[in-house]
Amino acid sequence: KLFNELQELKGNIRVFCRVRPFLPGQGAPNTVVEYVGEDGELVVTNPTRPRKDGLRKFRFNKVYSPAATQAEVFTDIKPLVRSVLDGFNVCIFAYGQTGSGKTYTMTGPDGASEEDWGVNYRALNDLFKISQSRKGNINYEVGVQMVEIYNEQVLDLLSNDRILSTISQNGLAVPDASMYPVKSTSDVITLMDIGLQNRSVGATAMNERSSRSHSIVTVHVRGKDMKTGSVLYGNLHLVDLAGSERVDRSEVKGDRLREAQHINKSLSSLGDVIFSLASKSSHIPYRNSKLTQLLQSSLGGQAKTLMFVQLNPDAISYSESMSTLKFAERVS
Ligand code: ADP
Ligand code: MG
Repeated sequence: KLFNELQELKGNIRVFCRVRPFLPGQGAPNTVVEYVGEDGELVVTNPTRPRKDGLRKFRFNKVYSPAATQAEVFTDIKPLVRSVLDGFNVCIFAYGQTGSGKTYTMTGPDGASEEDWGVNYRALNDLFKISQSRKGNINYEVGVQMVEIYNEQVLDLLSNDRILSTISQNGLAVPDASMYPVKSTSDVITLMDIGLQNRSVGATAMNERSSRSHSIVTVHVRGKDMKTGSVLYGNLHLVDLAGSERVDRSEVKGDRLREAQHINKSLSSLGDVIFSLASKSSHIPYRNSKLTQLLQSSLGGQAKTLMFVQLNPDAISYSESMSTLKFAERVS
């Protein structure tokens, strides 16, 4: 059933909401999550209001309770990931405030074992394995790029933090970024590790930069049908967005303010693009940010888009969670 649903995803956006669990050592937690329904219903409570008055109901294509495993999440998106091998362009995002589980969903926890792997590893591995199993009928080449967008600059995560200047709308979105072929599971792990390491190298220098940059893993697939000789191309963008939390302008200055303005601009551009697509607008404002320029070929048209909306269930995060949910509501 989910497969048919995802087939219909073409040119549409789906929103899956994932609530992360309370972490060990968080004291006596006060949750805002009142109800998680099988049908995608989510009810949250405003902790500052009497319980009945403070209830707000949202509906998404799917909602995951804190108990959902990485494997369960991947099972649901597998058909979408695999459609890349049929020549579709697919974009999967994680959106939410810092600490809400974006990186957990997309990559997994630090030093993850295979069981804890996030979407990135699982998707790459799955694409690689399926492509092997079709060998002889369709011969695939799978290649990977990893870039980061920080302050509207595109940086290569698979080389030494090289600044990339070009974004092209034909062929590769970032033709200058290093591209590595994936020929085995260990290639997948090696590539992801290099990318993650380069991302965190920046983080020590600039204080947790990973929460203030967007990281994008792009999987390029080229398949040649060995009977007919026809060739298809598909790509998959896996995007761990910068934290969506609003920064108090009165409290930050200089670099921190500039970062906040860039993040704000790119996340709102992303929201505008998706909203324009959903409302069938004749003008889609791709050009307003590097993020939307880079992802243009995978947003709209025949492309399939999925957004993970990540929530921290803690009452302390209520107002950020509400703004996350409102963003998600606007684009879904
Ligand atoms: P973000 O990338 O949005 O800033 P993280 O992915 O780093 O957030 O998550 C914050 C913390 O919560 C990390 O310690 C992470 O391992 C943990 N965490 C997030 N989601 C889950 C989950 N579904 N299950 C267990 N731990 C999680
Ligand atoms: Mg993160």
